[in-house]
Amino acid sequence: MGWSAKIGRIFGIDLYIHATFPLLFVWVGFVYWVQTGTLEGVLFGLSFIAVLFVCVVLHEYGHALTARRYGIGTRHITLLPIGGLAMLERMPKEPRQEIVVALMGPAVNVAIALALFLVLAVTGGGGEIMEPSLMPANFLQSVLYANIFLAVFNMLPAFPMDGGRVLRAALSMRLGRLQATRLAARIGQGLALLFGLLGLFGNPLLLLIAIFVWVGAAAEAGASEIETRLHRKPVSRAMITDFHALSPDSTLGRAVDLTLAGTQKDFPVLDGHRLVGVANQGAILRGLRDHGLEGRVADIMSDPVIAGLDDDLAGLLENLQQEETRLICILDRGQLVGLVNIDNISEFLRIQSALQDR
Ligand SMILES: [Zn+2]
Repeated sequence: MGWSAKIGRIFGIDLYIHATFPLLFVWVGFVYWVQTGTLEGVLFGLSFIAVLFVCVVLHEYGHALTARRYGIGTRHITLLPIGGLAMLERMPKEPRQEIVVALMGPAVNVAIALALFLVLAVTGGGGEIMEPSLMPANFLQSVLYANIFLAVFNMLPAFPMDGGRVLRAALSMRLGRLQATRLAARIGQGLALLFGLLGLFGNPLLLLIAIFVWVGAAAEAGASEIETRLHRKPVSRAMITDFHALSPDSTLGRAVDLTLAGTQKDFPVLDGHRLVGVANQGAILRGLRDHGLEGRVADIMSDPVIAGLDDDLAGLLENLQQEETRLICILDRGQLVGLVNIDNISEFLRIQSALQDR
């Protein structure tokens, strides 16, 4: 994700923090200053929000480490002002596994809340447990409430909340994945409308949540639609077979000529008949800046990403959605026979949907 800085690596997963995140601290500090007028109040607010985000990180690790048990890695976890985001390599396709992965986030918050409740009960600090306030004595209590809120909020049956995933997985045991996603998305959008209405007449925060849920539900339904269309469609049905290739000795000037003369932006690099690399647009432009038109393709090419003719298009799309991969080279018995890029898959999807509408 852009605008993020890495702050560490825990359990082998990179932890990023979004550039807008410090703004949250400024804002919280300001709010507590206005409300309490004391440095103590501001410190309370800042430490509260810091501890809260530690809880959010633990929640995300709940998802990530559970997914790991099913052999699914996590690319990174990013902290946004609105919460955390664990970027799993893929979602479990098995509904039972999806339910467990989704539940283990909120379960972490429930566990934290229970632990704090026990601590407060043992130390007698929970006497006024029904009165959350800004007093430092109630710090643990506030964290306890916040964790209960996190667990409940995340279990709302709406994408992109964990509850939406649980609902979809439960429905897909009876309906099939696409139908289940459509229905779950519709339920989520119904809930978003309700929040929106409540938000109009009351808390504006609900309005924000409504937009968040509406957009999330639509995106999830769209992604699932696409995945279904590409599932079990072999690469050979959508690959580009009419393309230009460069050789390692080609100049960057040759790459420029081919780019301007046609629509191809990324090129496979062939040494005779052997695929040795890929020269993508970004690398060509960087090469032009450093070496000019006389630069050589061999100096700027990168390792090719390869797939076979029978590979499934859905898997290739997943690969192309990672920022570094712009072009996948299709090999048949060691020979380059085609290319697949994101534009071509989009084209394929548009054609499929036109045929379906007929
Ligand atoms: Zn979660």
